[in-house]
Amino acid sequence: MRFLYMAERFWTLVNGHMYNVDMVAFDVPEFPEMPNLGFNASYVGLDDSELWIGMQFETIDQAKSAIKLYNIRKSVHSKVTRSTSEKYVCECTQRKEQGCNWKVRVSKKKRKQNIWELSVYNGPHTCCAVGHRQDHPNLDSTIISQTVQPIVQASPKVTVSTLMAHVKSVYQYEPEYKKTWRAKDKALKKLHGDWDASYNELPGWINIMQKYNPGTIAVLETKPYYKNDRVVADVRQFHRLFWTFPQCIHAFKNCKPIIQIDGTFLFGRYRHVLLLAVIQDGNRKTIPVAFALVPREDTDSCKFFLQNLRKHFFRHNTVCLISDRGSGFLSAIESLGSRFCSPKVEHRYCLRHIAANYHGRYKKDYERKLILRMGMFHSSS
Ligand SMILES: [Zn+2]
Repeated sequence: MRFLYMAERFWTLVNGHMYNVDMVAFDVPEFPEMPNLGFNASYVGLDDSELWIGMQFETIDQAKSAIKLYNIRKSVHSKVTRSTSEKYVCECTQRKEQGCNWKVRVSKKKRKQNIWELSVYNGPHTCCAVGHRQDHPNLDSTIISQTVQPIVQASPKVTVSTLMAHVKSVYQYEPEYKKTWRAKDKALKKLHGDWDASYNELPGWINIMQKYNPGTIAVLETKPYYKNDRVVADVRQFHRLFWTFPQCIHAFKNCKPIIQIDGTFLFGRYRHVLLLAVIQDGNRKTIPVAFALVPREDTDSCKFFLQNLRKHFFRHNTVCLISDRGSGFLSAIESLGSRFCSPKVEHRYCLRHIAANYHGRYKKDYERKLILRMGMFHSSS
């Protein structure tokens, strides 16, 4: 199995580069998932081997990658002269200037479906290598995304500059920042799906959860979709979602009658806020019990979260609700009136937030600790 052997060698090399460049920065798994380059593409990319007639590829994209990687390695440029659903042909850009007749043709095999074969090859290049400049036209965002995918998978927050350094260590060309940014975006999409597609999967996810975990609560709200100030018929847009599980509702009955609420920003294209409710058991272990994705932490969103929380968690019992002093929750609690007042709900501020805010303003650590101790003393007395 020559291809398999070559593929293994390729990955040893890639991982070698990865560890050399950023051994400390990445928590790379021992056997990272391989990007789908295909055996041939991988093999051609990283050593001096030639392309040969009869090489096979599972998809046309694998064939394109193999040709691009070959040209990057050889520091030569080629152009696509024909691209159809059956054939893909590339020639050297120095055909006229330097008389280089390098040419490659990949054709779809007629009898075997979905197999592409290198059917014509006139090589190697006889032109002079262009030398390592800043960038190579074949080092496009597709090739870069395939190269950096294991790194992005291990560390999604990796910086674009780190990826640029990695690409340079592999190919000796330094890709542009924008191109590498696009490549990282592509790699993330391949790993985790498109942002829009993910949101589109929400209704399906809710159905599955409710089917396989009966009692799952999900309140999904959508809104009309506008394009150029006009409502698009039959299209709805995600607005907000509250969800909790029956296990969480049941757990609360066996925990302290305390619910802590807070919000955190999401990263990614859509900057929604995740609102979260956490409870505590008798061993002071916390359990996240209710969640909401909302546009922002404002009064309306916090009301949506609190009303659903009340409905499923503290309709009958008196509970202590702990929050920070964020204006969204405070005004939501105020506007909900008697349902969120004593004796039904006792609202308290989170001591840790108060101490942190005090320290942020006065920068006195000793006094911050005093505040914590005062609060602790009060609560344990
Ligand atoms: Zn050439």
